[in-house]
Amino acid sequence: MILEKKRLFDAYAAKQGLRSTRQRDVILDIFLSTHEHLSVEELYLKVKASHPGIGQATVYRTLKLFVDAGLAREMTLPGGQTRYEHQLAGEHHDHLICTRCNRIVEFEDATIERLQHEIAQRHGFRLTGHKMQLCGICPACSAAEIQ
Ligand SMILES: [Zn+2]
Ligand SMILES: [Zn+2]
Repeated sequence: MILEKKRLFDAYAAKQGLRSTRQRDVILDIFLSTHEHLSVEELYLKVKASHPGIGQATVYRTLKLFVDAGLAREMTLPGGQTRYEHQLAGEHHDHLICTRCNRIVEFEDATIERLQHEIAQRHGFRLTGHKMQLCGICPACSAAEIQ
């Protein structure tokens, strides 16, 4: 999957006439090496740990390129913060988000997916995509509340 994402980006970069840069390769490798849902700041800190010469603005611009290339997905948390994860067009999952600590849990549910298609169909829509976020309090935050 990682190789496929790299190839997808290379093809996109070539089509856009972007010259390959060492910095972009580094950012792509680090981004693909994690399965977290990262903010720009978090990815920047990971990059900075091994490559202190790469600035936050470069990380931000590069992430936007990954989104445009179709290998990253941008998501907005209930509080307004933006996070990024790598995902190809065919891959899909939804998210449960803790509104206290921003913890994100991924899930996939065939019944929900099917229902969404049925609802779209009922309204005459051909479904091309959806964003599903369930917001709530995660077990750890619930436990902390009781104490
Ligand atoms: Zn929480
Ligand atoms: Zn996710």
